[in-house]
Amino acid sequence: MLVGVVIGVQSPNVWTAFCFGLISHYILDFLPHWDYLNSLKVNNKLKMFVKIGLDFIIGVIIIFILIWDYPQKLIIMSALIGSLLPDVLEFFYANLKMKWFRPFHNFHLKVHHWKELSFLKGMPTTLIVCLGAIFLLVL
Ligand SMILES: [Zn+2]
Repeated sequence: MLVGVVIGVQSPNVWTAFCFGLISHYILDFLPHWDYLNSLKVNNKLKMFVKIGLDFIIGVIIIFILIWDYPQKLIIMSALIGSLLPDVLEFFYANLKMKWFRPFHNFHLKVHHWKELSFLKGMPTTLIVCLGAIFLLVL
């Protein structure tokens, strides 16, 4: 989401923002990262939906606070939608069994080069990307 905001801030229009947001998701998935949602194991679907929902809502609240003063909120939102789309498609594929999303799921899976990394192995890159994004935002 943070990278999506940076892309939105730098983009001239909603289409560029969306495309680069989408590409950024796959690039970031390719990098070694700690996926805390996978680390927090839950044993039933309701708890999983709550976990994903909370992650999304907290992320969106933080993003809205960050972009509050930016005039191009629509462009930023477009980048954000692009950057979240692969995981939204993944959610529909995995939980609602929407089979026509299988090609996106397969590609998404292939892009994840580093799977199930521990906190210590995945956190450095995650931290560098987050701090880099925040740095670019406050520049
Ligand atoms: Zn992903």
